[in-house]
Amino acid sequence: MSAYKIAAVPGDGIGVEVIAAGVEVLQALSKKSGFELDFKHFDWNSDNYLKNGYYIPEGGLEELKTFDAIFFGAVGALNVPDHISLWGLRLPICQGFDQYANVRPARVLPGVKSPLLNGDQIDWVVVRENSEGEYSGNGGRVHRGLPEEVATEVSVFTRAGVERIHRFAFELAQSRPRKHLTMVTKSNAQRHGMVLWDEIFYEVAKDFPDVKIDKELVDAVTTRMVLKPSTLDVIVATNLHADILSDLAAALSGSLGIAPTANLNPSRKFPSMFEPIHGSAFDITGKGVANPIATFWTAAMMLEHLGEAAAAKQLMSAIEAVTESGLHTPDLGGNATTRQITEAIIALINR
Ligand code: ATP
Repeated sequence: MSAYKIAAVPGDGIGVEVIAAGVEVLQALSKKSGFELDFKHFDWNSDNYLKNGYYIPEGGLEELKTFDAIFFGAVGALNVPDHISLWGLRLPICQGFDQYANVRPARVLPGVKSPLLNGDQIDWVVVRENSEGEYSGNGGRVHRGLPEEVATEVSVFTRAGVERIHRFAFELAQSRPRKHLTMVTKSNAQRHGMVLWDEIFYEVAKDFPDVKIDKELVDAVTTRMVLKPSTLDVIVATNLHADILSDLAAALSGSLGIAPTANLNPSRKFPSMFEPIHGSAFDITGKGVANPIATFWTAAMMLEHLGEAAAAKQLMSAIEAVTESGLHTPDLGGNATTRQITEAIIALINR
């Protein structure tokens, strides 16, 4: 029987609630499906950062490397600046484990209403470059507090980094029925890194003659997502652009509360990390109404990555049956609780 070691890092806010629900669902699924999931919980979060001065203890990343996958909730607290929490916990894992492909599917699940009239046409995967670009952390501040203070935030585009994400996106597009890839850019205004981004895209395209391609400026693609959703399939974009576009994609698919993401290390040298797109959501923390669907969909992506495709499919079917039944949390216009959704999914798994 296959056994997988999973590191659960619930983090902050509703991350704690949705990861607990996700672990419960995964355990039910593993019992039925004949594989073992061995979870270890890590209490790396903002409360402990405020007590100890660090998110990840010494040796923590080394320990994390011994797991098959990381199941992550959210990081962010009202009393810690966002750039501290993000660079303290999530980014050291993404960057340290070279999880360069951030994959964000967006689809309107059955029974869920998109804010778009033609929202039923949304079936996208946003591929986000996850290791460099605008979030490389390259920059600095000088003359702090003085009138002549300067801060730089330098985007970094390397040939190796750009080529691997484009290749990943092409392979993903090739595996989907429509085989269509849209490259998002801003090379009209940003004439160095973004031009390299475009050039390499067309170089890689030569190896994928069966994939239909097009190019869109980041501003223009937002209107296309809203007005002509069916013309898009796989979208590849930089770290910053895809960060924004995938939130839009999530909202257009009904709610941030249903949107999943995978931070993949495609070479599998280090574990990949699976997390819902949403953040800590302090406005609803502790109320028991966080939508756990994003986390369940994320869990399905994790199972797929681990090679448990049948269990992943079973989980997706259960998710779709529950959304279709109209049992919805308040973000989707219903009044169900996290607990009720979790129980409904587990009941379907155990059926
Ligand atoms: P961060 O900066 O960590 O991304 P944020 O507050 O900017 O956090 P989110 O935490 O993602 O963003 O929340 C944005 C809005 O979406 C909030 O109003 C929140 O309540 C809602 N939301 C996010 N996730 C969920 C969820 N799983 N269920 C219900 N509502 C959610």
